[in-house]
Amino acid sequence: MFGKVLIANRGEIALRVHRACQEMGIRTVAVHSTADNTAMHVRLADESVCIGPPSARDSYLNMAAILSAAAITGADAIHPGYGFLSENANFAEMVEAHGLAFIGPTAAHIRMMGDKIAAKDAMRSLGVPLVPGSLGALESLEEARAVADQIKYPVLIKAAAGGGGRGMKVARSEEELEEAWRVARTESKAAFGDDAVYMEKYLDRPRHIELQVLADMHGNVVHFGERDCSLQRRHQKLVEEAGSPVLTAAERDALGAQVTKGLKQLGYRNAGTLEFLWQDGQFAFIEMNTRLQVEHPVTEMVCNVDLVKEQLRVAAGEPLGYTQEQVRFSGHAIECRITAEDPETFAPNPGRVDMYHAPGGLGVRVDSALYSGYTVPPHYDSLVAKLVVHGQTRSEAIARLKRSLDEMVVSGIKTTLPLHQRIVADPEFQAGDYTIHWLEKFVSRGH
Ligand code: ADP
Repeated sequence: MFGKVLIANRGEIALRVHRACQEMGIRTVAVHSTADNTAMHVRLADESVCIGPPSARDSYLNMAAILSAAAITGADAIHPGYGFLSENANFAEMVEAHGLAFIGPTAAHIRMMGDKIAAKDAMRSLGVPLVPGSLGALESLEEARAVADQIKYPVLIKAAAGGGGRGMKVARSEEELEEAWRVARTESKAAFGDDAVYMEKYLDRPRHIELQVLADMHGNVVHFGERDCSLQRRHQKLVEEAGSPVLTAAERDALGAQVTKGLKQLGYRNAGTLEFLWQDGQFAFIEMNTRLQVEHPVTEMVCNVDLVKEQLRVAAGEPLGYTQEQVRFSGHAIECRITAEDPETFAPNPGRVDMYHAPGGLGVRVDSALYSGYTVPPHYDSLVAKLVVHGQTRSEAIARLKRSLDEMVVSGIKTTLPLHQRIVADPEFQAGDYTIHWLEKFVSRGH
């Protein structure tokens, strides 16, 4: 097992990785920008190295500085968390070229899945069902028109290099196509330096259901069931559940069997998530994330597994700690992403947290790097806490979520806590009756 792991991230996920390492007797190295001198991950890590100024480009995305920090501290592996460099194939390559282990998939698989067109090609060849759309990139507006005529409006133009919902535009009719084509390409070029786009049928009432997988270096691939992440605003997840309120165990098993077989064929390793849209009982693959996800705790709660420890173990060459038969699903878990934003306008609201009080009790988990007196810096993602609850049934989980939200205090900054309180009280949410469009409508109703 590794002796020392460098955590190339910040915030709650840096803490999450640190905690798994500590419990395994692995020493940790935190890296941080000057804006994070007093951050919790820096306080708790065994060692810390300042890698640059506040701007992420000059610190958390600065590969040379991170590799230097690993060299001077004698770390033997790097965990990238999510975001930042976690899906950067060049970084994974550089880490390995420096004789360190990258706690994640191979650079080749990161590269393949990072190009959504290549990812869809790979899944098509493995027999995984896809959303109908263009085969490969669209070369011209004429080609876009032809594909749209074939698959019928509404259609979605998506960036091949996409992420975070950027570079994605809907065209409901031929009149809207040119604009969608133009805007998607411009946005994609600006955000990712690449204007390659492709087209998918725009599904009108799907749920977003994703499957968690883990693979070791000995050819074993296991899935840990699904998460329902349909509650989104601007294609960004706000609340996630495991399992999905609409999926049966048989449907989960069937999808899981198909996916694990495909990934075995690919020779995939470490953690990954396959994202699907689900409508009328049909799954359609949209993309694969080659990293740990923000919402991984709901899976941990229902499977009683520590996904980060498993990542560390398989990255060190050990076999997976689970066979598929040993993965058991118990109860129901829900996560709320609490961000430092105005709960109505979603304007970012960083600043000093006067008081922080985390809820507790049976079945309650809070992953957060907050503390009283901490100042949330304005330079990074606005996620400040993940409140995760587990119950024996979905209705127990909802009751637990409600009382935990009521217990939780984050004062001094605005957070989305009040929005989550409204969601959890809503009868449609309580009935599990929602699609990916539900939350946008809920928010615009201003309930
Ligand atoms: P990103 O990588 O930018 O997050 P995804 O491909 O994962 O993009 O899609 C993000 C979200 O956008 C999905 O969870 C879903 O809500 C919506 N979406 C994506 N593709 C479609 C589609 N074909 N039809 C309807 N909604 C879609």
